[in-house]
Amino acid sequence: MRKLIVVVIAVLFISSCSAIVKKDSSLDNGLVPLLTFVFDDGNDTDYLVAREIFKQHQATASFAITTGWIGEKDYLTASQLLELQKDGFEIMSHTVSHPNLKSLDEKQIEHELSSSKKTLEAMGVRVKNLVYPYNKNNSLVREVAAKHYRSARGGRRMMNPAQPEQYELKSYPANHNVNKIKSLIDRANSENKWLILYYHNLDIKVRVSPDNTGTFLKGEELLFSHSGARGRYSKELFSWLYFLPVAGTPQAGDTIIGQTSKATCRLDEIIYNDKVDIGGLIEYTHSRYPDMKIVTIDQGLDIYKVRSEE
Ligand SMILES: [Zn+2]
Repeated sequence: MRKLIVVVIAVLFISSCSAIVKKDSSLDNGLVPLLTFVFDDGNDTDYLVAREIFKQHQATASFAITTGWIGEKDYLTASQLLELQKDGFEIMSHTVSHPNLKSLDEKQIEHELSSSKKTLEAMGVRVKNLVYPYNKNNSLVREVAAKHYRSARGGRRMMNPAQPEQYELKSYPANHNVNKIKSLIDRANSENKWLILYYHNLDIKVRVSPDNTGTFLKGEELLFSHSGARGRYSKELFSWLYFLPVAGTPQAGDTIIGQTSKATCRLDEIIYNDKVDIGGLIEYTHSRYPDMKIVTIDQGLDIYKVRSEE
C-alpha cells in the first residue's frame, strides 16, 4: 500500500512538472501580433481574385511562385507578377519545378533555389523569401536556403514566436473553416504571435440540383441569373460545382448558364466562397484587433527584427 502511495505521488509530481513545462512554453510570446496571407504556387487567381480582395480591404499578401509554371494555363503570367509587385504585394520563390526538396541532392537543391530566384530577378521582380514545396525541408535544404534567401517557410501548424526559426517559418494551411481560422487569429492576438496562413488557388464551391441540362466545359464563362455574378468553370464532383469568381457574388437560387456550352443548372447552396471568406477574415482582424498588423513575410521579418540577407 505504501509503495502504491509513493507511485501515485511520483506520478502526480511528474505530471505537474510537465504541466509547468507546457505552461512555460506557451508563455514564449511573440513581439506583436501579426497576420500574413501567403498564396502558394502562382495560380492566376492570385491576380484575378486575391489582388482585388486585398486592395478592397486595404491589406497586403505574399505570393510564392513556382517559376517553371509561369505563363502556363491557369498560372500567372510575367506581366501579372510585375503588376502584383507594383501594387505592393510580395513575390516569393517556390522553387523552379515544385519538387520535394528532401528527395534531392545538394546540387539539385542548389538549382531549384538559385535558378528560381534568378528567373524572377531577370523579370524585374525582387525576391527575398522562399516557400518550401509541400513545406518539406531538412538541415541540408535549410542550409542551401540560407545561402540565397532571408527566410524560408515550412508548415507544422504552429505560430511564430519572438525569435522565429528563420529557415523554417511556421504556418497553417487555410482550410474552409472560417471559425477555426478566426480562433487562430484570436490566439495570435492574445499571445502576440505571428500567424502565417497559406492558400492555393481561390474558388467557390456550391451544391447544384441534379437536374442539369447539358455539360459545362472546363474554363468556360458562367453567368449567374438573377444575381448577375460571373465565374469561370473548374469542375464538378458529385453534386458540387467549383468555379472561379470573376465578378459579383452568386446566390442560392441562381440559375447557372454556361456561356459556350449553354448548359444550365440551379445553384442550391453556397458551400464556401474564398473571396467572401478571406475578405471577412481581413475585416474581422481589422475591426476586432486594430493593433494586429496584416503584413507580407518580408515586413513581418522586419518587425520581428530577423536579420536581412547579406
Ligand atoms: Zn506549392
